[in-house]
Amino acid sequence: MYVYDLLNHLNDKQREAVTAPRGNLLVLAGAGSGKTRVLVHRIAWLLLVEHCLPSSIMAVTFTNKAAAEMRHRIEQLVGTKQCGMWLGTFHGLANRLLHTHHQDANLPNDFHIIDSEDQLRLLKRLIKTMNLDEKKWSPRQAMWYICGKKDQGIRPYNVKIYGNQIEQTWQIIYHTYQEACDHAGIVDFAELLLRAYELLLNKPHILQQYRDRFTNILVDEFQDTNKIQYAWIQRLAGNNCSVMIVGDDDQSIYGWRGAKVENINRFLENFPDAKIMRLEQNYRSTCNILQAANVLISQNGNRLGKNLWTKSLKGELISLYCAFNELDEARFVVNSIKVSQEQGGALKDCAILYRSNAQSRVLEEALLQTGLPYSIYGGMRFFERQEIKDGLAYLRLINNRNNDAAYERVVNTPPRGIGDRTLDLVRKTARNQQLTLWQSSRHLIDERVLTGRASAALLQFLNLIDTLAAETAELPLHVQTDTVIKNSRIWSMYEHEKGEKGQARIENLKELVTATRQFQYNYEEQNVLPLQAFLSHAAIDTMDEQASFCKDAVQLMTLHSSKGLEFKQVFIIGMEEGMFPSPMSLEEDRLEEERRLAYVGVTRAMKKLTITYAVTRRMYGKTVYHRPSRFIGELPQACVKKACLHASGIKSTTRYQRISTVLSKNNSSFTIGQLVRHPTFGEGKVVNMEGSGEHSRLQIAFPDYGIKWLVASYAQLEHF
Ligand code: ATP
Ligand code: MG
Repeated sequence: MYVYDLLNHLNDKQREAVTAPRGNLLVLAGAGSGKTRVLVHRIAWLLLVEHCLPSSIMAVTFTNKAAAEMRHRIEQLVGTKQCGMWLGTFHGLANRLLHTHHQDANLPNDFHIIDSEDQLRLLKRLIKTMNLDEKKWSPRQAMWYICGKKDQGIRPYNVKIYGNQIEQTWQIIYHTYQEACDHAGIVDFAELLLRAYELLLNKPHILQQYRDRFTNILVDEFQDTNKIQYAWIQRLAGNNCSVMIVGDDDQSIYGWRGAKVENINRFLENFPDAKIMRLEQNYRSTCNILQAANVLISQNGNRLGKNLWTKSLKGELISLYCAFNELDEARFVVNSIKVSQEQGGALKDCAILYRSNAQSRVLEEALLQTGLPYSIYGGMRFFERQEIKDGLAYLRLINNRNNDAAYERVVNTPPRGIGDRTLDLVRKTARNQQLTLWQSSRHLIDERVLTGRASAALLQFLNLIDTLAAETAELPLHVQTDTVIKNSRIWSMYEHEKGEKGQARIENLKELVTATRQFQYNYEEQNVLPLQAFLSHAAIDTMDEQASFCKDAVQLMTLHSSKGLEFKQVFIIGMEEGMFPSPMSLEEDRLEEERRLAYVGVTRAMKKLTITYAVTRRMYGKTVYHRPSRFIGELPQACVKKACLHASGIKSTTRYQRISTVLSKNNSSFTIGQLVRHPTFGEGKVVNMEGSGEHSRLQIAFPDYGIKWLVASYAQLEHF
């Protein structure tokens, strides 16, 4: 590509950033202003014009998917594959560093990464063996404590304790956990970052090697870096590196996980002569959507401040739909998507965003009922599914017998008659004698501590793993995987599981074999065996949102995982007080973060935005009443219109539609879903009706007064 072409699709400000002389650069700009585009073009510029070697470039993104997308776009711009460039997430890059220098990082060659579910299991087991009350010292809280400390770069022996008994216990749990991990060669997600940082800190020759190599570092979504990630970049960069960071303080949404938006200011202080550049033209959204987003976010204090504008047309108003309950809400959203599909729209251009993962279920059901394909981005991901974790656990154990998490997972899956008492003894011996579970099992068998039957059952398991390892060692990865899931009998176990679920599990296991076949493995870069590389890939992938964007399917995801993405049509559901903002975030700081999350959601929409809320909702088995979210009230009214039900001719098969009849009362009529106004209760929505003529009764949901039955002829209802 010619340089002219490279710069042709950029505005003046973007061009200035892309072509800036090498040096430290902060691009601070609002949503949809082309930050990611600038980052990609800058890399192409460095390669084509500055003639930098691909190996001199490190680019950090927020998800593996974003990294893959970025690599693809760079290759399109530059025209060739870019070998040697490091492009990935912080975790992916840290993993790579640790594999290359595992000895210097004090890790075994075959260290393995555990995801949060395995981390919880391990903590649960440790807390139990420490004889602590699990209710008081919950594994989940322990996980938060440990991750929090690691994200701040704090090791157990550095925890400052001011005579505080509680803190002291958490610290002991942290200590015990870390010992167990180190012993078994386990690395959790936070550990990846911390250890990679410590490697650079403690091994100057390694640091120098990378400082000499990476003379260009670029980071996207910088507002969500945490302390250790910042320190990592700072250390790696040294004084002779050009660092470009792009970010938006208004989109900082991971403060609850330790992200520090202050890192943006810190960058300006710590990186000499850093230049700041702003982009102000938004290319993503219509004028209405952008204006609404600008007004919404202007209600936060403490902003670095920016002024986003667009040349786009005003576009459609934002639709606001007041649903009776979550079923009505889901039906409305699904109907709207169906209408847009019938008008020629693609399903993959529609995204449904929600505050918490649990909200997806009702939508999934409505989508299934209507027959619309969907994919969940960030939900139950492939590598987190039960049968896949079982398959992977066998592979992990074959790869490393000392992997306790994997041992725990499959020792009795499928059941092979190893009793709880035997397993308790294995665990206890492991703890007392500082052994791994595998070593402890061997020890108990060799020392004849167990009864004959228990010993035989356990030995059978150990032999199974050893045999699988020996017999598959020389096979290609996918054949090895296939053999392991068949011979371990997890395949036949799930084959016997009845119904669709068993069928789906078998499909998933087949998919696992496909995944290993498709796994692109580069021995030179990874420096480890294919199985080991694949297992690391699987562990890191669970952090990322796995989605199949290739097929035409409605995209479901949390607001958090929608960051950086864009869709023609966006639905934000559950915009209610107590849902969004979430009940845990009502104090001022957290509330501002919630508002930023709302800003992220609104700015994902290119053409059409719909916001829905429900008057009542079933949550955790209870019916709750919610007011509309304060964020709805904060949108400029001129940009919003109320949406009605049945705007389409869609034939719905839900129960509301079936009972929907039109009643007449003094020449006027009511329909289910209609909005009405009552002199006392205010605005409400007809959610049910019975009887006819004079005696007809309407059930109306009023946002402020709950649900009431009223006699139509007396109620003095107004339509609107
Ligand atoms: P976010 O803050 O959400 O991550 P962003 O600032 O990274 O957004 P991009 O995703 O890079 O923005 O760009 C938003 C959209 O605008 C993309 O579809 C992109 O292709 C388009 N775009 C950006 N700059 C231009 C331009 N100069 N001309 C045409 N389209 C552009
Ligand atoms: Mg971006």
